Order: sequence, then structure tokens, then C-alpha cells
Amino acid sequence: MTDIRTGNGYDVHALAPGLPLFLGGVEIESPVGCVAHSDGDVAIHALCDALLGALALGDIGKHFPDTSDEFKGIDSKILLHRTMNLIKEHGYHIGNADITIAMQRPKLAPYIMQMRQTLAAVMGTSPDRISVKATTTEKLGFVGRGEGCEVYATVLLLK
Ligand code: MG
Repeated sequence: MTDIRTGNGYDVHALAPGLPLFLGGVEIESPVGCVAHSDGDVAIHALCDALLGALALGDIGKHFPDTSDEFKGIDSKILLHRTMNLIKEHGYHIGNADITIAMQRPKLAPYIMQMRQTLAAVMGTSPDRISVKATTTEKLGFVGRGEGCEVYATVLLLK
């Protein structure tokens, strides 16, 4: 019998000028980047939370505390890789993931395929199982004012 688990994740980071912007494991050309303890890859953080949530394993802050020097400036792909190892240790594999990034600017469309390929490679799956979508919020709210970037992630795990 197949055990099917679903999980959702959500993360927000503030944006500030002059910082690098990493989303979905890809560096994006941008005048603003995420304020963060790690490399600020808000898309990977939401994805990790979805993966952990599917197995009721807590959240990213529990596994990779932002008070720890070990995770200062860390490449979030490492956090995703470690999260996937945890998933595999529990006997599950990824069915699919769907990620929605809400950001007013820059335009993310040119980077979507690279994000899917990068995330799939780290997760040990194929890009056709990893969806990345980007939206603006029509200039509404903190995302629309360019103050922050918000990401929702959903995953399905199979055993
Ligand atoms: Mg985060």
C-alpha cells in the first residue's frame, strides 16, 4: 500500500538594496536581495518547510536554527539536500512540488527553468516534477511595494 503525504510551506524575507538575490538555488540579477541569516533563498526555505511538514518533522528553524553560526550565509541548497536526506531516511520520495514566488520585481520568468532544473538536481528528481511559478501582487501589500518576497510551496511525498 502506498502512503501519500502532502505538506505546505510558507516563507517571507525582507528585501534591501545591494544584497545578492537567490531564488530556487539560482542567483538572480536584481538591485535588491533578501535580508537573511543564510543566503536568503526564500523559495528553498518554503520548500524545505513543505517537505518537513509532510512528515510532521517540524520546521526549518528547528532543523537549521538561524541562531547557529553553522548556518550563517549558508547556501540554502545544502539545507534542501539535508532535508531530502531526512525524507529519504523516513523511506519517502518526492512525488511532486509546486512553488509560487510572489515578488513585484525583478521579472523572474527568465530564471524559472533554471530554478526547476537546479531544485530537481538537488532533490534527486526530474524537473517535470518540480514546478516554479512567479507572480506579482499587482503592486498591493508589502510584496507589491517591493518590501519583501513571499513564497508558498506544496509537496507530495510517496512511500
Ligand atoms: Mg527563510
